[in-house]
Amino acid sequence: MDFTIPVEKSVQKDTTKRTFDLEKIRSDFPILERKVNGKQLIYLDNAATTQKPDVVIESIKHYYTFENANIHRGLHFLSELATESYETSRLKIKEFINAMSAAEIVFLRGATEAINLVAHSMCRGNFFDDGDEIIISEMEHHANIVPWQMLCERRNVKLKVVPIDDNGDLIFEEFEKLLNPKTKLVSITHTSNSLGTVNPIKEIIDLAHKNGVPVLVDGAQAVQHGKIDVQELDCDFFVFSGHKLYGPTGTGILYGKADLLNKMPPYQGGGDMIREVTFEKTTFNDIPNKFEAGTPNIAGSIGLGVAVKYLNSFDINDIISHEVNLLNYATKKLLEIDGLKIIGTAKNKSAVISFVVDGVHPYDIGTMLDTQGIAIRTGHHCTQPIMRRYNLPATARISFGIYNTIQEVDYLIEALNKILKMIR
Ligand code: PLP
Repeated sequence: MDFTIPVEKSVQKDTTKRTFDLEKIRSDFPILERKVNGKQLIYLDNAATTQKPDVVIESIKHYYTFENANIHRGLHFLSELATESYETSRLKIKEFINAMSAAEIVFLRGATEAINLVAHSMCRGNFFDDGDEIIISEMEHHANIVPWQMLCERRNVKLKVVPIDDNGDLIFEEFEKLLNPKTKLVSITHTSNSLGTVNPIKEIIDLAHKNGVPVLVDGAQAVQHGKIDVQELDCDFFVFSGHKLYGPTGTGILYGKADLLNKMPPYQGGGDMIREVTFEKTTFNDIPNKFEAGTPNIAGSIGLGVAVKYLNSFDINDIISHEVNLLNYATKKLLEIDGLKIIGTAKNKSAVISFVVDGVHPYDIGTMLDTQGIAIRTGHHCTQPIMRRYNLPATARISFGIYNTIQEVDYLIEALNKILKMIR
């Protein structure tokens, strides 16, 4: 059965916004009520994954209870219902990032799969000549390094890396210097998951475009913290993970400009991505189906649409000011701790704080905070080049979400002080 996305149809836009009532918001997230090691959970690992509001959890239960069927394939009632829900979710995401068309939204497993898709497809599609270059930055997550390295190995293409300064800011002049006629792609993070640095993404895109170079933006740490408008940014690709914006795990999005996606060959072959198959030749479906081979994560993608609607129910400025408050307050309090150093002090930062404490291994901090019910991240955060840049084996990292409170920061600081006193 041929299925066309109902692009003409628009999802109902919510113009009325919820008041930013933190108590009410917290009650939307059932897991926040649980105890860990006998203590009230304090979840400060939101850059790794966010917790899920009950509307998202319920939407998944609802799908499996009332709608479960395979999509795009059956004429029967349930299949049409599931298809409708899945495609409506695509429309919600199109509106969330203001894509021109729903065909530019590809449902995938996460930001990692989205970057791999672009790398594989551009590689197969001969987008690169011998000696071409791809620019990334020193602050990339491994997901935006390794797929390009793999491409470079196959295509005799070189990876060029924009350095960062000691604060964790991208050195823009170095980026300017790296751009040259051999540059075929810039793939860069909007916001660093380890340092919190928010890059001047619009300037990066504009400069790359002036040089005729397309840009992929890794938005995995950006979409949940501010407004993203892909048309305004004019990025060529934008990728993000659903589970970092209060949606289900195993979901993510590749946005790509239609003319580029149309030129790119499929990433994987199988059902749903074809138009006609014979043993001699296969012709492919239109975008986005061309890039969605096999049965997708239907329930997850529907849940992601619900998560986006949940996030959209707030005024984004309320979310931004809440998270900036948390960031500023926690930064100030952490710096009062003797021997504590924050790694990543960029001018423009997101709600992520990496830190180290003199003479104490980050793993010990993480493990001991866990005994107090406080979840933080320790390690290299899938950014080993950043650790090397600062000559560190690891950092401790706290990262905030919509539901975190100043009181939780106070508990964290109190627990940290106790732990450090014990260790020292
Ligand atoms: N890019 C950035 C900046 C990230 O922080 C992450 C995950 O932490 C990823 C990419 C990869 O996301 P995922 O593991 O959901 O595919």
